[in-house]
Amino acid sequence: MQNIINNLPKLAKDKHNESKKFFEKLKNKPPKNLDYVMEELHEAEFKKTDCLQCANCCKTTGPLFTDKDIERIAKHFKLKPQQFINQYLRIDEDKDYVLQGVPCTFLGADNYCSIYDVRPKACQEFPHTDRKKFQQISNLTLKNVAICPAAFNIVEEIKRRIKL
Ligand code: SF4
Ligand code: SF4
Repeated sequence: MQNIINNLPKLAKDKHNESKKFFEKLKNKPPKNLDYVMEELHEAEFKKTDCLQCANCCKTTGPLFTDKDIERIAKHFKLKPQQFINQYLRIDEDKDYVLQGVPCTFLGADNYCSIYDVRPKACQEFPHTDRKKFQQISNLTLKNVAICPAAFNIVEEIKRRIKL
């Protein structure tokens, strides 16, 4: 898995223009069954890809923390939201709460998330390949394919599956 992760930025770069063009066409003419196809591709990919062998998202890019995330996770630690913020978070250039650094402080050496049951919504949804109207997040997906081997494979598969 580590070899795949190491090669991913180059692979994603090589495919960038092709994928970008595909997403432009997809936005203009999304097939009626796109949500269904994405769900199917997402499920098939995550049957093959074991996130516990990877954790590259947790190691290289942190999630945003919404107010609800902060309340829930602070409660888990028996902290007040402001105490949790002071201890773990910072405000980024978009004025969002994010981790003070990466790898994520809640990631264990075994790649398990120590706050899995209460983890941020952004972590639950990453890499967003099963979300509805997938064509609307193409810019984000083009970034995620360089981080997430599963997202990369899903995008390659959707290009094969949907001829535009
Ligand atoms: S979501 Fe993607 S980057 Fe994150 S652990 Fe799973 S395969 Fe790796
Ligand atoms: S909170 Fe958990 S799932 Fe989210 S980045 Fe940290 S270790 Fe990964």
